[in-house]
Amino acid sequence: MVKINSVIPDSPADRKGITEGDILVRINGHGIKDVLDYMYYAAETSVTLEIVRHGEEMTVAIEKDEYDDLGLEFETFLMDQKQSCSNKCVFCFIDQMPPGMRETLYFKDDDARLSFLQGNYVTLTNLKQSDIDRIIEMKLNINVSVHTTNPELRVKMMHNRFAGEKLKFIWQLAHNGIKLNCQIVCCPGLNDGDELRRSLRDLGELMPNITSMAVVPVGVTKFREGLYPLKGFTKEGAAETIDIIAEFQEQFLEKFGTRTVFPSDEFFLLAERDIPDMEFYEDFSQYENGVGMLRSLMDEFDKALDIAEWEGGKRHVTIATGYSPYPIICQLAKKAEEKFPLLQCDVVRIRNDFFGDTITVTGLITAQDLIAQLRDHDIGDQLLLSSSMVRRDSDVFLDDLTIGDVERELNTSVRTSASDGYELLDAIMGVTW
Ligand code: SF4
Repeated sequence: MVKINSVIPDSPADRKGITEGDILVRINGHGIKDVLDYMYYAAETSVTLEIVRHGEEMTVAIEKDEYDDLGLEFETFLMDQKQSCSNKCVFCFIDQMPPGMRETLYFKDDDARLSFLQGNYVTLTNLKQSDIDRIIEMKLNINVSVHTTNPELRVKMMHNRFAGEKLKFIWQLAHNGIKLNCQIVCCPGLNDGDELRRSLRDLGELMPNITSMAVVPVGVTKFREGLYPLKGFTKEGAAETIDIIAEFQEQFLEKFGTRTVFPSDEFFLLAERDIPDMEFYEDFSQYENGVGMLRSLMDEFDKALDIAEWEGGKRHVTIATGYSPYPIICQLAKKAEEKFPLLQCDVVRIRNDFFGDTITVTGLITAQDLIAQLRDHDIGDQLLLSSSMVRRDSDVFLDDLTIGDVERELNTSVRTSASDGYELLDAIMGVTW
């Protein structure tokens, strides 16, 4: 039962007289409790809605094309409360954030519906058998945070006594044809080494329904008082992890024609190894997990630079980046300077004082660190930042300061660019669209 908030004018529902305030109870005899039920049952060509209006039940029949939207809008996107997680993972980044940040940043969601709709990774620990049956019935492919296939270790790592037994859901889903993308947050001394081998071996048995796996290194901030004593990866540990993954990539490639499992870019940076070629990443299926982002950026940048032509006079810019991608960004800046003598492109690595210097990625740099560390730097004509530093579709950093604050404090203009080589070169050259 969900209250209809509004009806899109001239939509199938509007043409049948459904109005704001009506309560949607069932579609084609199926109870509707959330957006998944709604999307699934409303996809049919013949749809019978059971509605309650002012306490009176009524039935509305609608004929439409398959998958055409009925035109109903609800109070929230999910038509339900967002499900929060029931774990207390030893590696949880949210538990390692400083106090006083934006409240929404502390919300721990673990909602299987958002996995299907937005690609979020879920642990399955808060799901019941009926939820799994529904995923199978609706044939929803989902993204799962597995972390380990060792039940006792999963309980320990996720601090949830059900985390081990809920592993059975992964097997059930895969055996029923559901395609799963998996993620392993790798923590030295816990699920790396032979434990990682065990997880990859077990998940490998579920291929081809395990379609991809990303292994990402744990992020360890300075805010770990009272938490499990975790350490980040050393150079040697990162190299060993890449090599373990390579053992399985070879096997999977030979047997299934795909590597399936990939270390995130961060492992190559930590191990001080070259970023693999484009072909290594196949279809970039784990791009959102930071797998292949740097290779993609580098190759796009080279292609963009090949065809770029300089127009106008001298230009001096500064790119601010995290410690780990710094050498790569320096390489790109140098290539641009070599091609364009009128260009000066400085690269400055920003130490993460906000979260601690063990955090070296660009996306977790805050405005206050930028301001403090660039105050005495000759920025030139413009400061270039990665758009991963600010909230999507906004100009707000993790510390709630804005791009405008950085511009004002540093007395400069700021331009952001996505992790895209073409956009980055445009930003460096000052090309406007
Ligand atoms: S599942 Fe674990 S890592 Fe994710 S939000 Fe919950 S406690 Fe944190």
